[in-house]
Amino acid sequence: MTTLKLWSKGSAVKTLQSKLNLIADGIFGPITEEAVKDFQKKNGLTVDGIVGPATWAKLGVTQSRYINEIIVHCSATPEGKDFTVADIKKWHLARGFSDVGYHYIIYRDGSINKGRDESKIGAHCTGHNSYSIGVCYIGGVAKDGKTPKDTRTDAQKKSLLSLLRELQERYPKATIHGHREFANKACPSFDAKKEYSSL
Ligand SMILES: [Zn+2]
Repeated sequence: MTTLKLWSKGSAVKTLQSKLNLIADGIFGPITEEAVKDFQKKNGLTVDGIVGPATWAKLGVTQSRYINEIIVHCSATPEGKDFTVADIKKWHLARGFSDVGYHYIIYRDGSINKGRDESKIGAHCTGHNSYSIGVCYIGGVAKDGKTPKDTRTDAQKKSLLSLLRELQERYPKATIHGHREFANKACPSFDAKKEYSSL
């Protein structure tokens, strides 16, 4: 959350005001400032009327990551074969990651499965992890297990689209990319940037 002070405006101010049981008009006026100081005093914080990370934390609003990229991946597994979050987690742990590297994994049946929590930095695209969400579909190579191929089922295409739409609603500043834009790889075996450019 951003730092707020007297005469800040916007949705973050509304969040603050509702946490303080004030009328949420979105304008940080003297009444809001007074309520902030009161809250800070009661909670042993520095009484400055400025809502920074410490005050947000006491209010129960956790710092969310700033997301500016949504990166699409494939699991690089053969066409027609099912794998689960547990499988990917096992491969990623073997590579020394603390958990599955992606935030969402889309199965061949179109089901959208949670990987790492969105609030946590992923491990899916070197140099881009801090500010991104990683989405992976199962598949991405031909039956030979090595030739890059767009193996997305209709159900996967549909789910990818709805997940990306939902993520973009929540992170309106984020742009959609394929892993291959940032690495010398074929992943996700289709041109994600182009396909989702109209989202
Ligand atoms: Zn990838």
